[in-house]
Amino acid sequence: MHTLTSSSVSLLPEVARFLDAGPLGGVIDGRDEQAADGATFETLDPGTGEHLATVAAMGPADVDRAVDAARRAFARSGWATMHPNDRAIWLHRLADEVERRKAIIGQIEALDAGKIEQQAQGDVQSFVDTLRYFNELALNTERRSALPVSGYEAWTTRQPWGACGFIVPWNFPMVLIGWNISPALAAGNTVVIKPAEDTPLSAIYLARLAREIGFPDGVINVVTGLGEIAGAALSRHPGLRRMSFTGSPEVGRMVAEACGRNLVPCKLELGGKGAAVIFDDVNIEETADKLARAITFHTGQVCCDATRWLVHESIFERFVDASVAALQRTKIGYQLDPGAEMGPVVSAKQRERVLGYLERGQRDGARAVLKGGAVDVAGHDGFYVSPALLAGSLENVAAREEIFGPVAFLAPFRDEAQAVELANDTDYGLANSVWSHDPRRASRVAEAMVAGNSWINAHNLFPLGVPYAGVNRSGMGGGVNSVETLFDYWRSQSMVRPTR
Ligand code: NAD
Repeated sequence: MHTLTSSSVSLLPEVARFLDAGPLGGVIDGRDEQAADGATFETLDPGTGEHLATVAAMGPADVDRAVDAARRAFARSGWATMHPNDRAIWLHRLADEVERRKAIIGQIEALDAGKIEQQAQGDVQSFVDTLRYFNELALNTERRSALPVSGYEAWTTRQPWGACGFIVPWNFPMVLIGWNISPALAAGNTVVIKPAEDTPLSAIYLARLAREIGFPDGVINVVTGLGEIAGAALSRHPGLRRMSFTGSPEVGRMVAEACGRNLVPCKLELGGKGAAVIFDDVNIEETADKLARAITFHTGQVCCDATRWLVHESIFERFVDASVAALQRTKIGYQLDPGAEMGPVVSAKQRERVLGYLERGQRDGARAVLKGGAVDVAGHDGFYVSPALLAGSLENVAAREEIFGPVAFLAPFRDEAQAVELANDTDYGLANSVWSHDPRRASRVAEAMVAGNSWINAHNLFPLGVPYAGVNRSGMGGGVNSVETLFDYWRSQSMVRPTR
């Protein structure tokens, strides 16, 4: 039975059984499948560095099988053609069942991603809420529109596309699977999911659950494996009708190129280097505390985080002091320990990345106002880092590139115009925030910052129904989470008949 060797916390019996039943396969056409060549890889618990599970390392032949299964299910299972009410029953059933198993899936996700367990449960709830949201939206959207044109009877219908591919990263597996597959399924498409190699477990559990409640085989398929093998094979597969990729700009470009060769529309949700613009009329302690929570949330491995804090020069030093104090209060610990507020980063490689940026940033002239760095958590030999704050020129490498850890870079600004100019001086364009008690100024700055999302007096807000997307190096293709996303998963077809 799987146990946690270095923790006092015990696993839920269902989680231990799931982890023990290895090697865990992908799910293709409703069946657990190993890689055709028998290859496997290992996923670790980032909080202990220990083995968590052995998983099938699938390759092109397995991806072929998964896409074929999704295409067959689209053509023959009745999923694409069933009445929307009937499809809605299936999707509500899946949402209910995932919600009922929130503790189990949350613990699997916490173990695999190094995520604080309560936050992991929140991610599972986000999946459930997103699925319900798109389900209701699809049910209440008219799919046939008459077009008033002279001399013709004309109308359009909205049809699902077919088999859709989804490649997701390791930081929010359940949230991002929910954001991505919910509109596709609600619109009547079938899906193939390629989870990240660091966090494949929740996707496997989800596909098994769909099978358990009787979903038609082949509607939800999961191929596990390495990005450059399984991910690359999925992104170049000509059998797909749409692709959605969430991850780094470097890989996003490769995926979009591969899709382009097959003329497959591709949605990209990529990285960020968001700014928080803090004016001199804020409550300094409260604002510093909120931003400290944002940058330590999931150990700073959040694409839309505020990683450049632009502070009015008149409060700069006081804000720095308040931020240091707030970050020093963060309780770092094993992700399943109830007192922990910030867990490890996902892997040894990710820890090296964070430490590397801290070192390069300081070599490049940044002042470490809070040193950060690797940190030990007693009894857990995992990938822990403590929060860091750098300050200095915004030309610094740590102020320009995405670090993906609990690190923020601070710089002062003189006036509103300069604040906007500095916030926009980036290749990215995912999310920024502005902090001020003056609502008119806050709205003005929010609208002037070039990105998919501007938040006011808060950071990391994702209400369903509000489009979430990146521009420039942060993404393309329409974004997620709104009515427009649902329409992305329907193609429009026009019918025309002469009337004279
Ligand atoms: P990554 O690009 O390395 O990997 C993402 C996914 O792509 C993984 O499933 C991986 O296996 C796969 N992959 C890797 N190489 C591939 C290839 N050659 N072909 C096809 N697929 C391949 O990113 P990551 O390190 O897992 O995630 C971190 C990045 O994701 C950050 O840049 C972060 O900002 C971004 N992100 C963006 C959003 C958003 O909504 N905009 C959300 C979360 C994360």
